[in-house]
Amino acid sequence: MSSVRERCLPAFAWDTWVAMRKAQVAVVRASGYELGSVRPAVERALDLIGGLESVVRPGARVFVKINHLPPPSPPERGIITHPKLAEAVLTLLRDLTPHIALGDDIHPANPDGFTVSGYRELCRRLGVELVNLRERGFVRVPCAGVVLREVFLARAVAEAEVLVDLPKLKTHSLTLFTGAVKNMYGAIPAGLRTRYHGEYPKPAEFGQLLVDIFSVAKPHLTVMDGIMAMEGAGPANGTLRPLGLVLAGRDAVAVDAVASRIIGIDPFRVGTTKAAHERGLGVGDLQEIEVLGEPTFAVAGRDFRLPPIPAGEIVGWFPQALTGFVTRRLRPQPKVATKRCVGCGACAAACPTGAAQLRAGKARIDRRRCIQCMCCHEACRFGAIVLPQSRWALVLGARRRR
Ligand code: SF4
Ligand code: SF4
Repeated sequence: MSSVRERCLPAFAWDTWVAMRKAQVAVVRASGYELGSVRPAVERALDLIGGLESVVRPGARVFVKINHLPPPSPPERGIITHPKLAEAVLTLLRDLTPHIALGDDIHPANPDGFTVSGYRELCRRLGVELVNLRERGFVRVPCAGVVLREVFLARAVAEAEVLVDLPKLKTHSLTLFTGAVKNMYGAIPAGLRTRYHGEYPKPAEFGQLLVDIFSVAKPHLTVMDGIMAMEGAGPANGTLRPLGLVLAGRDAVAVDAVASRIIGIDPFRVGTTKAAHERGLGVGDLQEIEVLGEPTFAVAGRDFRLPPIPAGEIVGWFPQALTGFVTRRLRPQPKVATKRCVGCGACAAACPTGAAQLRAGKARIDRRRCIQCMCCHEACRFGAIVLPQSRWALVLGARRRR
């Protein structure tokens, strides 16, 4: 059956109409991850933004990028995009095209990460191709970015006709919030991800780098898993927070803006949203976004706990020349909670500077080499890297404010 667009409007008129409209983001409640709840929620969210067929033409080659943050973790930990949300999206996509692949970049370790998360079973059951991005390889894509001139982008992402982004709604101890834009960081090689953390330790610069990557891997559709969100010291060691929401939109930046507003963060405090909006890669200004479904005030997560990182306005009190110095002192310095450390070495493997190392079976952090990138905190699945509030931050009351 032809869509409203095909029946009523020629392509150029449709594009003009879309450009004139506000960005649209659907916000729909879902009581949990049972398919009977999540599938109708995803379906309704997609209907509100014009239907899946307005994004995916029949027979198109689709790649679905999940957030499968390494090391592996089961979906109940709330670190990765829940496979039930992915299942709801995949079953709807299958009505339009058989050419669907899903994946992320994971370490080919034992145990297999996709088995731990349930994605291997899911894709086998649905007949969807499961892709470990590093096995398919990467291609060099020119990028007129602020930081990057080229991006080594996963071939599966670069060659897809339709890119579907399935991020997880979480706080982030370096970038404050992680969602649709940051999910594309997983589409470059793991070695480069680690290296960039070392080369661009300043949050503002790192945010621009994330947006550079996003600029060459812009999703056509975003469906965000906000059913079980994460608050506090995300993206891997925060606390689970049931929000019961699915968000969807064709503009990933707008989806991030609405999601961050729901958890009490001004969207322009999120470096990626601000940079992407200013660079015309999406809409981050809530005034220019039409929220469909549930109004944000009705679903806002009250007192959502944010990571212990400094508030922008506190940093702004200091002269520009001192900003780097002040930020470093306000930001928490990761520490090892030795009793919890099992000596797995994931923190050392993730550390871009060699500051985190294993000694006598326990992790140690050399403060002199540490650039406070929080990669070790993100990599630890045992809660053994803690982020105590810095003394400066305590004195200034500089906990990140809404
Ligand atoms: S701190 Fe965490 S990631 Fe590092 S070795 Fe210990 S348990 Fe593993
Ligand atoms: S010790 Fe942790 S925070 Fe410090 S540089 Fe290494 S990974 Fe980054």
